[in-house]
Amino acid sequence: MYNVEELRREFPILERKIYGRPLVYFDNTATSQTPRSVVDAVESGYCHTKANVHRGVHTLSMEATELQENARKRVREFVNASSTDEIIFTRGTTEALNLVAASWGGTFLHDGDEIILSVMEHHSNIVPWQLLQSRIGFKIRVIPMLPDGSLDMEAFKGLINGRTRLVSVCHASNVLGTVNPIKEIARIAHSHGITVVVDGAQSVPHLKVDVADLDADFYAFSAHKMYGPAGVGVLYGRREILEKMPPYQGGGEMIESVSFAGTTFAELPYKFEAGTPDFIGIAALHKAIDFMERVGIADIALHEHDLLDYTTERMLKEIPGIQIYGTAPGKCAIISFNLAGAHHYDAGMLLDKLGIAVRTGHHCAQPLMDALGVQGVVRASMAAYNTRSECDYFLASLARVAAMLG
Ligand code: PMP
Repeated sequence: MYNVEELRREFPILERKIYGRPLVYFDNTATSQTPRSVVDAVESGYCHTKANVHRGVHTLSMEATELQENARKRVREFVNASSTDEIIFTRGTTEALNLVAASWGGTFLHDGDEIILSVMEHHSNIVPWQLLQSRIGFKIRVIPMLPDGSLDMEAFKGLINGRTRLVSVCHASNVLGTVNPIKEIARIAHSHGITVVVDGAQSVPHLKVDVADLDADFYAFSAHKMYGPAGVGVLYGRREILEKMPPYQGGGEMIESVSFAGTTFAELPYKFEAGTPDFIGIAALHKAIDFMERVGIADIALHEHDLLDYTTERMLKEIPGIQIYGTAPGKCAIISFNLAGAHHYDAGMLLDKLGIAVRTGHHCAQPLMDALGVQGVVRASMAAYNTRSECDYFLASLARVAAMLG
């Protein structure tokens, strides 16, 4: 039995009051909250095992290294990669995607090539490619979406030609909640020899991700969106491809030997991990994965879908003139909307005064906002610890806000 009240007690922040009212945290897409076990791992890292990793023969350094490398094993198992050599720790999804663009793209893309992105990408899966494009000159083509916010797969197939080298898309949209058919995209792309990059920032917190089954070449995600600490992320990369890529950044830890005559680089995955990593955050990510698997990813998804369906249905019935963006079947628990005649920012401000945290704005997806014909939206997004009674309070508050602004 999914016991949400018991689960909530693991999250100290949920006891907070905002303007004297209990916090209703519906900004989980931006970052999710952190259970006590993850906070304890951070505290323990600073109070008991802080030492730099892979550097010392002393006890603390060996313990810190073991915690980090055990986390790498846990991540490997979590996403079903074939080796820990394929798990690179980064600062987050953004850095993981920049790594792929700079290292893979900087090596394998040339003037005259084409890459495919989608209209629903987060800026972190657009701008790194544009930065590279301004140096190399390849073409970026964009998969449009259908009216329900799903990817137009026929259009995708039509964009592929003999010059296409890469497709980089999100597994789940941070605005629409749409879950894209990555396995199908990878099958089609690979049949044309095209490399596949997946931005998994919004899927890993909500779905069981199996990189072997999806057959993606790269898969990026962030710990802070999956009940883990901020400042840590993961890039999974297929070993054969990683081996052919040059380092992303230079510095300590990523070398085998250095001299002014020339430098040789460390083996995978360290070749891509220059400098001191957030080893305490990485150890805490281990605990976040333990948390998700203890609760059960499938059970979390079921719970979130219940909240999504319940809230969406009532919003459409009870809030006059509401517009919801993204209705694709199987979407994640993300509800982006606008109230008739109201600015999204005003709605967000008023909801905050009632203790409800939602996100407003373009959500780092301006091309998607253009496609939707809006400047911004309000976004309510749910996680494992949200409840139906919070949804009831949100709906009642939204009705008040709509009446005030409408
Ligand atoms: N991609 C998507 C789909 C996202 O939602 C986000 C975070 N909003 C990112 C990438 C970037 O993640 P981070 O800021 O953790 O690097």
